[in-house]
Amino acid sequence: MEFRKNDIVTVDIEDIGSEGEGIGRVEGFALFVKDALPGDRVEARIVKNKKNYAYGRLEKVLVPSPFRVEPRCVCHRQCGGCQLQALSYERQLLFKENKIRNSLIRIGGFAPQQVEECLEPMVGMENPFRYRNKALYPVGVDRDGKLAAGFYAGRTHCIVPNTDCLLGAEENRVVLECILEYMHRNGVDVYDETTGRGLVRYVLIRKGFYSGEIMVCLVINRDRRVSLPRQEEFVGALKEIKGMTSISINCNTGRDNVILGKHTYPLWGRDSITDVICVRDMTQEGYPHTGRQLEFHISPLSFYQVNPLQTEKLYSLALEYAGLTGREVVWDLYCGIGTISLFLAGSAGRVFGVEVVPQAVEDARRNAAENGIENAEFFLGRAEEILGQGVKGDTGREEQEKGQAGGVGEWKRTGSDKAGEEGIVWKLPLPDVVVVDPPRKGCDSACLAAILKARPDRVVYVSCNPATLARDLKVLCDGGYELKKVRGVDQFGMTVHVEVACCLQRKDL
Ligand code: SAH
Repeated sequence: MEFRKNDIVTVDIEDIGSEGEGIGRVEGFALFVKDALPGDRVEARIVKNKKNYAYGRLEKVLVPSPFRVEPRCVCHRQCGGCQLQALSYERQLLFKENKIRNSLIRIGGFAPQQVEECLEPMVGMENPFRYRNKALYPVGVDRDGKLAAGFYAGRTHCIVPNTDCLLGAEENRVVLECILEYMHRNGVDVYDETTGRGLVRYVLIRKGFYSGEIMVCLVINRDRRVSLPRQEEFVGALKEIKGMTSISINCNTGRDNVILGKHTYPLWGRDSITDVICVRDMTQEGYPHTGRQLEFHISPLSFYQVNPLQTEKLYSLALEYAGLTGREVVWDLYCGIGTISLFLAGSAGRVFGVEVVPQAVEDARRNAAENGIENAEFFLGRAEEILGQGVKGDTGREEQEKGQAGGVGEWKRTGSDKAGEEGIVWKLPLPDVVVVDPPRKGCDSACLAAILKARPDRVVYVSCNPATLARDLKVLCDGGYELKKVRGVDQFGMTVHVEVACCLQRKDL
């Protein structure tokens, strides 16, 4: 059967694609329908036609799926950020578990039976709304040219006004309304992408869930520090909001879609907010707190996990998978501001963190000091280079075990880290456990090669992308490791995104 554009077809949706789209079949043709759910019978309009498949737009749900729920946000279809809001939360978790399962089998080449043995049930959220501690709202004009904050309407630069995204903190709305009112009263203009003129681009809001502290950073189209028009009024209104701790501006004159510029200037309060992460016992039902906790400083430019309650569970799982007894040497690659490193430090002998962003390394060192942790050190540089330096040539683990390297590997400090002198070789122990938590693109192949050469007993892989995770696990397993445990942690309810923690062990142990 041939579809024609704008044809209306009736289709039973049987499956769900990796981006949350419904998949049905019409006479052998696969039809992808965004916003349709497995179990729905829908009417769809054909919008794009390919040789063996087509894309349709949901026109009408004829028979709703038993897993369909009433979406809470009126904007959910237009916004596109919550691809799964109409699917029951239980089914969302099942979808994510399947996404992990399918990646491991199809991309990683693992046997289905092995995957079933390793895969533990998803760690879900108690409340899958209002979980984000960070919000980034573009400021611009709506269809009628009115000042607005919200999200971009699909493929346009018009803003659909919505100051209360249901994934974010309730305070966001208060902050945004305060800023819009200030702009309106003082005729402050918004940035216009086409001309590159106008002042205000984005509002970044962060909230410490435990501390209640709030940070607001206004991203403006200026190349250096300037005073805002009637700045005292701007600051005066914002600082009245309960929990307000830090108000700053960030300068960004870039014409691309990078959101934050390099420089942030404080206007009022502190330059960072603090938050607490508690260690939980992942082996007990309800994952109770263990009483151990850490405090972190978060500055506007640092990476920090967006879902604090689930992050505790994710890190606690990483801790469980690391299987520490108090003596191990742990390397935490892609360590950000040292969150996982410091989490593990309490149960390890020594922890070494590696991170490529200088500000994050500074934050990590400060976080270690302020939490009184003395057995964690942080290095600036690429994971693949720093670990690679340590295990290259005759300093690999085999030599180490033979005693040729005196029980330690030789490590060369690289990059522009002021704390070390370029070219100085110093000695650090090789890892017993390596933890990696790379960005979406996964680990660099040189990083995987360096891990294989270092031959730690265990590798804990934390990933936000099951596809690159599966690709990398295949390399590690082909190189002598065995996949022991895999568990998804839902950090991003209502969306199709999945976070996964895995444990690998050296086969010859
Ligand atoms: N483990 C941290 C951060 C994870 S995000 C946490 O849970 O908070 C991934 C981090 O990897 C980011 O901080 C990013 O700056 C860093 N990164 C990206 N490429 C890197 C590389 N090649 N080497 C080291 N760090 C890298």
